[in-house]
Amino acid sequence: MVDTPCMQCTRCQRAVAVEYENSPAARRWWKLYFTVPLFLLPASPFLAADFAVCLPLMMAYMVGVGPVLAIVREQPTCGECGALILQAEQAGRPARSRAECVP
Ligand SMILES: [Zn+2]
Repeated sequence: MVDTPCMQCTRCQRAVAVEYENSPAARRWWKLYFTVPLFLLPASPFLAADFAVCLPLMMAYMVGVGPVLAIVREQPTCGECGALILQAEQAGRPARSRAECVP
């Protein structure tokens, strides 16, 4: 198992080891967060009717979707210079989100 795959860094202009803020295991396990509604779906009539406990808990769950998405979709960074490694740039074409260099 390869923990740190090599990717092309546009700033260093060579293949470098990439880093993630969260470990691969953490990113993999946080994906389970999105399967919780599948288990709660059969109980949805009861959950929606109970406005005192279940409805606020479901709203708290929905608030957590954003941070979990940020962990799951985390972009790798260069291990040497810290630049973002964008997936679109791995194929050799410039990414739309990276600004052009103006001399
Ligand atoms: Zn770099």
